[in-house]
Amino acid sequence: MRADARKRSVVTQGSCREGSRKRNFGLEWLGTMTNSKKAVILVSGGLDSATVMAIARNDGYEIHGISFDYGQRHRFELESAAMVCEANQAASHVVFPVATAIFRGSALTNDIDVPHNRSDAEMGDGIPVTYVPARNTIFLSVGLGLAESIGACDIFIGVNAVDYSGYPDCRPEFVEAFEAMANLATKAGVEGQKITIHTPLVALTKAQIIQRGIELGVDYGLTHSCYDPSPEGISCGDCDSCLLRLKGFAEAGTADPIMYAPPQRPGS
Ligand SMILES: [Zn+2]
Repeated sequence: MRADARKRSVVTQGSCREGSRKRNFGLEWLGTMTNSKKAVILVSGGLDSATVMAIARNDGYEIHGISFDYGQRHRFELESAAMVCEANQAASHVVFPVATAIFRGSALTNDIDVPHNRSDAEMGDGIPVTYVPARNTIFLSVGLGLAESIGACDIFIGVNAVDYSGYPDCRPEFVEAFEAMANLATKAGVEGQKITIHTPLVALTKAQIIQRGIELGVDYGLTHSCYDPSPEGISCGDCDSCLLRLKGFAEAGTADPIMYAPPQRPGS
């Protein structure tokens, strides 16, 4: 046992739990390197991931953001993701390109109409057309690769099971299964450096998420949630994502700082 423990401590030095070093991993370094523990944060540019990043920063992690360019119809979220990383003094931000061919069949990536003005009951019924095939499995897998590469044992993702939009890869049981897989699949995990997938929003309502973010100084004006913005990036106000966001701000008792289009939509 002692020999094992010694071996493990030797392995741990210089990898998962060490402080940061100034090394070039081919990433875009944004902030000042510190000696705090590292975390990889999946950042979409939306409200939830902006809050998650602020929580990780507040918990003392050195922030490494990762975003995905998967041919999403609206490009504004990637600009928001970069701004959110900068606002959180991220040490690095990677934008990972995903071939659009593997994300077919979603209203977020293809010429399929995004639903508008759906009721809570309609939103809660089944898996919506905005579902992107196996998205969080792919994103977490890439995030896991980045984490192991830079010596981070902690990955944060803003999944939420309360204001649940019907996405199977946002459920706690999915995240638990992925975490178990991550610890089987990596050198770090096999050598006993536990990889943890953090989901700090999983049990919060949208209003509670917003309240927590405001406590942490999140500028929600930098974020983008709309599934169907105008060409200028103005949010529609009535897709599922806008409706959930606006309801969250209303329940949190505060105004949403982003701009919305006037209520009438031609042809809707
Ligand atoms: Zn919208």
